[in-house]
Amino acid sequence: MSEFSDLYQDLILDHQKNPRNFGELPGANHHADGYNPLCGDKIALDLKLNGEGVIEEVKFKGSGCAISKASASMMTMALKGKKVAEAEKMFSQFHDMVMGKEGAKTTDLGKLKVFAGVRDYPARVKCASLAWHTLEAALHDEKQVISTEDGEG
Ligand code: ZN
Repeated sequence: MSEFSDLYQDLILDHQKNPRNFGELPGANHHADGYNPLCGDKIALDLKLNGEGVIEEVKFKGSGCAISKASASMMTMALKGKKVAEAEKMFSQFHDMVMGKEGAKTTDLGKLKVFAGVRDYPARVKCASLAWHTLEAALHDEKQVISTEDGEG
């Protein structure tokens, strides 16, 4: 964890110790499981979308490193009340940011910007982006296990 500044470290440790929206979601209508074999991070994500395509509830369960857990915890907070299109936009921005893409926009990310620092640590990029890849799968209702080994970031 020494690669992160104190602020990032505090936030990440806080969410690791007290993950928000942790648990199963009764009545979930979207679900996906994610796995990052490089680090051993696992996440199970439940979403409840209403008829208008708004994410009403989101919960996750999982085990893994502090970054994967904190990223999932902060993602669930950011997603509540968002439309699917907005969530997809955040996924895209988050992905570009952690991949260190030139000119990456972070206008919709809010506190999630703390994960910008992982772009310098390729092994950590997968930890930070696992929850988002799992979200993408859940939104598309792909019921298989998603592995970060299948693609970049
Ligand atoms: Zn990890």
